[in-house]
Amino acid sequence: MRRIGLTGGIGSGKSTVAGMLVQRGAALIDTDAIARSLTLPGGRAMAPIAAQFGPDVVQADGALNRDRMRQIVFQDASAKRRLEGILHPLIGLACDHQAAQAEGHDVVVFDVPLLVESGRWRARVDRVLVVDATEATQSGRVMVRSGWSAEAVQAVIVQQASREARRAAADAVIFNEGLSLAQLDAEVDALWQQWVGAYAP
Ligand code: ATP
Repeated sequence: MRRIGLTGGIGSGKSTVAGMLVQRGAALIDTDAIARSLTLPGGRAMAPIAAQFGPDVVQADGALNRDRMRQIVFQDASAKRRLEGILHPLIGLACDHQAAQAEGHDVVVFDVPLLVESGRWRARVDRVLVVDATEATQSGRVMVRSGWSAEAVQAVIVQQASREARRAAADAVIFNEGLSLAQLDAEVDALWQQWVGAYAP
C-alpha cells in the first residue's frame, strides 16, 4: 500500500484533486471530515473539549460551536495548542482505523490540510503532494464556494503555512492556477502514472 499525503492551503483545490485520485482507484481518508465527526453530538472529542474550554463552546445539541471555538483559537495560541492536543491524537487513531479498512487498495490518500504545520504527518506517508494556488485565487474560490468575505479567507491564510513552506515539503506540486478542471485532471493523471504506474487498477 502506498500512502500519499495530500495538502494545500484553503481553497487550493485539495478536495477536487482528492476526488480525481479516488476516480483512479485510491482510497481517501479525509482528516477534515474526521475532525468534524469527532465534534458532532456524541463525538469522541466533545467530552474532553467541554472539560477543557467550558460549556460555552458546546451547542445545545451537543456539537462543537465552531464559530465560538474559532474565535477563541484565533485570539489565543495556547488554546489552539490545547484544542490540537485533544483532536490530533483522536484524528490519528481514526486515520489508522480507516487505513486498516482500506487494505484492498494499492493507494491511500490522506487529505491533510495542516500536513506541513503538524510535523508528525511526514513520517506517516510515503509521498507528499501539494496543491498550490495564488492567494488571490484561493480567496476567490472560497468566497464563491462558501460565501466567506475576503477578510475571513485572509484570516485563515495567515494562520496556515506559507506557500513556500508547503512547496519545500512537497515531493510533487500541482499548480492549480488557470487550469480548467479537465486540465487539472490531466495533471493528476500524469502524476498517477508516475507515482502509481503499474499499480493502477
Ligand atoms: P478547503 O481547504 O477549503 O477544503 P480545498 O483546497 O479542498 O478547500 P476545493 O474545495 O477542492 O479546495 O476547491 C475550492 C473550490 O474551487 C471548489 O468549489 C472547486 O470546485 C473549485 N476549483 C478548484 N480547482 C478548480 C479548477 N481548476 N477549475 C475550476 N474550479 C476549481
